[in-house]
Amino acid sequence: MFLTALAGATAASALGAPRAFAGPLMDPAQAARRYAGRAPTQWGMSMPGVVSTFPADGRQLALTLDACDGACDDALLATLRRYRVPAVLFVCSKWIDANPGRVERLAASPLLEIGNHGTRHVPLSVTGRRAYGITGTRSAADVVAEVWTNQQRLVELTGRAPVWFRAATAHYDDVAVQIVRGLGLTPLGFTVNADNGATAPPAAVRSAIGRALPGSVVIAHLNHPRSGTAAGLGGAIPAMLDGGWEFVLPPQPGAAVTH
Ligand SMILES: [Zn+2]
Repeated sequence: MFLTALAGATAASALGAPRAFAGPLMDPAQAARRYAGRAPTQWGMSMPGVVSTFPADGRQLALTLDACDGACDDALLATLRRYRVPAVLFVCSKWIDANPGRVERLAASPLLEIGNHGTRHVPLSVTGRRAYGITGTRSAADVVAEVWTNQQRLVELTGRAPVWFRAATAHYDDVAVQIVRGLGLTPLGFTVNADNGATAPPAAVRSAIGRALPGSVVIAHLNHPRSGTAAGLGGAIPAMLDGGWEFVLPPQPGAAVTH
């Protein structure tokens, strides 16, 4: 079922189908009821239903930046503007609170797409599983709240409904993945971890991005201005462009359904 839906979405993207938000396929209360008590069988960052690559047309890669909590890395944004590099910014409610007025301005940029990074910024589980010491959501209703509260806030602030979701720590169980998709969003994973949670020095960021393959989704962070991320990307981006690479937004998932 997953493969059929994903293949359909890929074909639609390749044909240049219009990028439209299909709206929730279930309303939030319905999603919470439907998945209540369902036992997960998988846990991790990669599983069916999580998109981690895209069909590239040559040397294309996609940059995604997580805004977890804390500050905004203005130097990194300036680099994106300077080289006209598009990116998906995954914004959570904690970051919105810490950076008032920011997400509205970022959403107005034609280079940037806003993704949903959750409300409390916790891993997405129906059983409270932990990742990197952070306790995840504990039930289907919790998952719905983590996704939908921030979704509504982003719609209110930006006038657009994000189509991509990324959980804090990028960890999910398979029931949570189904819930995200049931609400009309698609979990976006990654193939290249560029800044290792904003702990990597600039040279490591640069060499990680240099290992990208066509269709790779790169993850880095927007919320650590004192990290090596901005300097690393500041070196990697012109080097990749010189090497014939193109940064693109990942093709919209369309209305892929898995249930
Ligand atoms: Zn995060």
